[in-house]
Amino acid sequence: MRYGLKASCILFGLAVVVPGLCSQATNAHEVAPTNLRATHLQHLEERLNSSVEDLREQCRFESDIPTAPPEGLVALTFDDGPDPEHTAKILAILDRYQVPATFFVIGEKVERHPELIQAIQANGRHLLGSHTWTHPNFHDIPSPEQQLELARGIEVLPPDHAPQLFRYPYGNASCFANDYLHSRGVAIVGWHVDSCDWAFDRIGTVDSKEALSCGVGSEYRGDFVGHVASSVRARRGGIILLHEIHAITPARLGELIEEIRHDGYTFVRLDDPRFAPSLR
Ligand SMILES: [Zn+2]
Repeated sequence: MRYGLKASCILFGLAVVVPGLCSQATNAHEVAPTNLRATHLQHLEERLNSSVEDLREQCRFESDIPTAPPEGLVALTFDDGPDPEHTAKILAILDRYQVPATFFVIGEKVERHPELIQAIQANGRHLLGSHTWTHPNFHDIPSPEQQLELARGIEVLPPDHAPQLFRYPYGNASCFANDYLHSRGVAIVGWHVDSCDWAFDRIGTVDSKEALSCGVGSEYRGDFVGHVASSVRARRGGIILLHEIHAITPARLGELIEEIRHDGYTFVRLDDPRFAPSLR
């Protein structure tokens, strides 16, 4: 019966998560893979059907960084945590390889798990950034709600953390939110490489639509590490988008770091001045 309910979620989840029906869904903004997939595909469709000028004017999709990254440098970023199951595992792997990262955390999870924020900050190697309060899609909510999401998400973080960094849920931006963030001195962070870890995590392979929306080459549809490493080679470095909430991410992170290092790239933090032109 439980399995049946989950299957229903996947069917309906393409359009919307049905509150109370999905066992994972605690609120309308829950980061369920079905929600991610729906938003990714909607994103793809809008991009394909809109002119570059229109998209730029509406500030809607600015998270895919079109400019080249600093050559040879890679910055790992982890969204959607902190996560009681995976944050400690990710930190242990980063420690083992002495690799820095930035964690874009969801405010209401920060409130529930302050000990995980302390763990991220413990050795001073990593950066914290905000990923809103509840992870809404900014294309679906009015400006006052956007402002509340931004303000609460920023203010729940430890006051001494710097620099102030922010990433949009689903990468979906608005002109209003851009202006608000800039007025508070917060830099907006997109990505050069989309790991698509959420899609690989679902069934181990990505389908053709997911591949198109995440930029996964046909030869890598069943190869998570191969996809990310080849994308890094294609961009010659860059900011990599990963998530804390999918099992595949900590499970393959060590291998991914080794592969990227083997290709000659160096891991740095987002406050490395060479990454400044990649931030907004
Ligand atoms: Zn997210």
